[in-house]
Amino acid sequence: MPMNVQAIPTVSDRINQIRLSTAEIVNREILPNENALWRWRSDGKHSDRDRKKARDIRNDIQNKVKQAGLWAPHLPEEYGGCNLGFLEHAYMNEVLAYAIGAASLFGVVAPNSGNQKILLKYGTEEQKQKWLVPLTEGKMQSGFSMTEPDNAGSDPRSIKTTASREGDEWVINGHKWFTSNGMAADFLIVMCRTDDPDGPAEQNGKMTQIIVPTDTPGVNIVRGIEVWGRTSDHAEVIYENVRVPAANQLGQTGSGHQAAQDRLGAGRVYHCMNSVGQMWRAFDLMIERLASREVHGGMLEEKQFMQGFVADSYIDIQAARLMTIQCADRMEQGLDARTDISAIKIFVPAAYTRVVDRAIQVWGAAGVSGDLPLAGMYQGARTLRLADGPDEVHKILIAKNVLKRYHAGEAWDFGN
Ligand SMILES: Cc1cc2nc3c(=O)[nH]c(=O)nc-3n(C[C@H](O)[C@H](O)[C@H](O)COP(=O)(O)OP(=O)(O)OC[C@H]3O[C@@H](n4cnc5c(N)ncnc54)[C@H](O)[C@@H]3O)c2cc1C
Repeated sequence: MPMNVQAIPTVSDRINQIRLSTAEIVNREILPNENALWRWRSDGKHSDRDRKKARDIRNDIQNKVKQAGLWAPHLPEEYGGCNLGFLEHAYMNEVLAYAIGAASLFGVVAPNSGNQKILLKYGTEEQKQKWLVPLTEGKMQSGFSMTEPDNAGSDPRSIKTTASREGDEWVINGHKWFTSNGMAADFLIVMCRTDDPDGPAEQNGKMTQIIVPTDTPGVNIVRGIEVWGRTSDHAEVIYENVRVPAANQLGQTGSGHQAAQDRLGAGRVYHCMNSVGQMWRAFDLMIERLASREVHGGMLEEKQFMQGFVADSYIDIQAARLMTIQCADRMEQGLDARTDISAIKIFVPAAYTRVVDRAIQVWGAAGVSGDLPLAGMYQGARTLRLADGPDEVHKILIAKNVLKRYHAGEAWDFGN
């Protein structure tokens, strides 16, 4: 079923144009080719011919995306992107995410996209030429290496990986895991503690992000961690006396925590808009089945239990979508959106889980099979509740921000 995207009367012509032209490529080029494009990856049974066919389709779609002026929405034109504003990009994502893997065909794939933004903001001109340009041209792959198996990822201050300065080099030692895309990456942006971890002073200021090429001696990619029962490209990496030039440091020493916040804040809004697009797809699939499956002498859509699924899913999607757009709007206006980001980071993956769960229930056994995208979506939605900051951490942040305002003698203004 194609995604039904029509112009929205309340948004700018530019946003409508982006949504409509994105939907045209998603509906015409990607949805009909989803199996040919991606299925060989999951079942591993396909031939070289199938892989070549997938590559040809991919190249063809990427060319059409470029011709439509929609390539790399997160990057400025001088780095090969189409330079969308925050809100424009958010609106594009709900359409893109409707089709499996569509974002990669539009040149915006995590963790490369987050790294590109960091390189853009914190990189020197030399670093941009060496790492950003080839990343954008698709000649390099990258990863972001922050989380450690032995320390709580939800508390970045607990990071133990160190980088010590020796002459013109940083020497890195540490143990990371869940470095996404780590198996394919040519370089990793590694979050390091750049002074004595046992020393005094405030700890956030001591983090620095350093670019580490994966072929540097001492970078041991231990394994692709099994996730949801399947080998993945989320890598476990041991850094053992890894020496890189001091010039590989991103931004000033101690700016690593801020750079991570920059990356995660915007990324969370984009991820939520992706979740909205995926919910939209799950919803359409659910309705398709309700209207075509007969059980116990009637169509599924006639059963009140099922009608409850439709109503509850509609409410979940609308609420998730409006909250995310409101948050993106605040970001676009440069307003403080920290409370809104935490709120959507909790609400949207939970709503997404519920919507996909109902769609799976409606499809019965087919819902958990590999014939539909629902099982993958379900796993993705569940994972989102702990990745990028688990629910509990965001709840603490919301409560802190709200209570701070009341303690300052103000009440919360939900209209602003
Ligand atoms: C698929 C996937 C991809 C990932 N990709 C990357 C990547 O590319 N790069 C990278 O660096 N990391 C990545 N991560 C790691 C991710 O960011 C961390 O898993 C996340 O930050 C949580 O850290 P943790 O796993 O160490 O859990 P912990 O910090 O140990 O937390 C475990 C649980 O404790 C609870 N909890 C935590 N803090 C509190 C609190 N204050 N109060 C109450 N309860 C609390 C929460 O329920 C939480 O889920 C990825 C993870 C996944 C699953």
